[in-house]
Amino acid sequence: MAEWINKKGWLDGYVKPVKAKEEVTRKSNVMIHVPLKCPECRSRSVRCYGADKPILYYKCVDCELKFKVIEKDG
Ligand SMILES: [Zn+2]
Repeated sequence: MAEWINKKGWLDGYVKPVKAKEEVTRKSNVMIHVPLKCPECRSRSVRCYGADKPILYYKCVDCELKFKVIEKDG
């Protein structure tokens, strides 16, 4: 859109706000990964040993507790 005007420098003042808008869009695409913790000892050393979707089976490496995690969409 209006590229020929940009080349002449007429819209210089408008170029920067457009770039800032793109950065905001990128930030909204950032997901925070929450590591799984053992419900018993709060250890993060858990291993997935099986899956029967949407249920995932995990086992804690530290206290050997087996627990299920239900995978949720959205
Ligand atoms: Zn544990």
